[in-house]
Amino acid sequence: MVKPFIPELVYMEPRALEYPLGQNLKEKFDDMGIEIRQTTSHNQVRNLPGENDFQKYRTAKSTLVVGVRKTLKFDTSKPSAEYAIPLATGCMGHCHYCYLQTTMGSKPYIRTYVNVEEIFDAAEKYMQGRAPEETRFEASCTSDIVGVDHLTHSLKQAIEYFGESENGRLRFVTKFAHVDHLLDAKHNGRTRFRFSMNADYVIKYLEPGTSRLNERIEAAAKVAKAGYPLGFIIAPIYLYEDWKEGYRILFEKLHDRLPDYATKDLTFELIQHRFTKPAKRVIQKNYPMSKLEMDEEKRKYKWGKYGIGKYVYQNDEQEDMKQTLGGYIDQYFPEARLEYFT
Ligand code: SF4
Repeated sequence: MVKPFIPELVYMEPRALEYPLGQNLKEKFDDMGIEIRQTTSHNQVRNLPGENDFQKYRTAKSTLVVGVRKTLKFDTSKPSAEYAIPLATGCMGHCHYCYLQTTMGSKPYIRTYVNVEEIFDAAEKYMQGRAPEETRFEASCTSDIVGVDHLTHSLKQAIEYFGESENGRLRFVTKFAHVDHLLDAKHNGRTRFRFSMNADYVIKYLEPGTSRLNERIEAAAKVAKAGYPLGFIIAPIYLYEDWKEGYRILFEKLHDRLPDYATKDLTFELIQHRFTKPAKRVIQKNYPMSKLEMDEEKRKYKWGKYGIGKYVYQNDEQEDMKQTLGGYIDQYFPEARLEYFT
């Protein structure tokens, strides 16, 4: 069982102490006896302990930086929401395929932002700009926010904030089962709580440092019992030998272990595995023993932004995935909605 994340080292921006959450976190980490260092900016934490890049990367993944979010311009977040709401950046998990390895580059440490009220004010403006249409905010674009929220409770605040809003909805996805503190949040059905699920093979070999499948299913059942709309993201769909049976077992387990009420308003999102050439280089450096297959010859090249294309599965393989997993959804969860396959 993966324990809730406790950082080995904490950095704080002095300005973070001007906010109640900053003070609260400082007291918490002092009480826990965790070393706290100062940093002038959460963007500039340098000299993390470690003798080489490999060690420094691992240190960063267990380092929490407490800062103030200055950029309150939100990125867009298609296809799952209109905007990404920035409550945290980075993740303690070690999924080999994780895109944060490339997007966060030299800053793989975990950052949490204490100016949550200012972040909500910015969200409010985005909502007003689109009203009376609804605006969906995705809270897990640059982190696995649930993985750190047992310490910060900023996600919990966001859930309650959107619970009261007229036109806003919140969504996020997690691979962590540490959800107990979120069960009594006043969500008013306005937050969709999603879990990233996968075949046992993928979780076992490619997702170290995250909660195991059984723990995620148990957490999903609790979340459904607390009345949250529930969703599953199957990502990355990964073709290994016997993948059809692996994914069938996944759907069977979900079906057998989830209570009926959990399946009434259920959504699925399906995302195939993809990689870019720069990502492949970083993954091979960070996880040299990984079983993750990234053979460009076997994949289809899809042109992308800034000349960096990605390698996805061949058309017939994509069709096979869509048919196979779509079939399992129909068979095991006939009332569920498939939101997209990409
Ligand atoms: Fe990346 Fe999500 Fe894994 Fe964290 S849990 S390492 S964000 S894929």
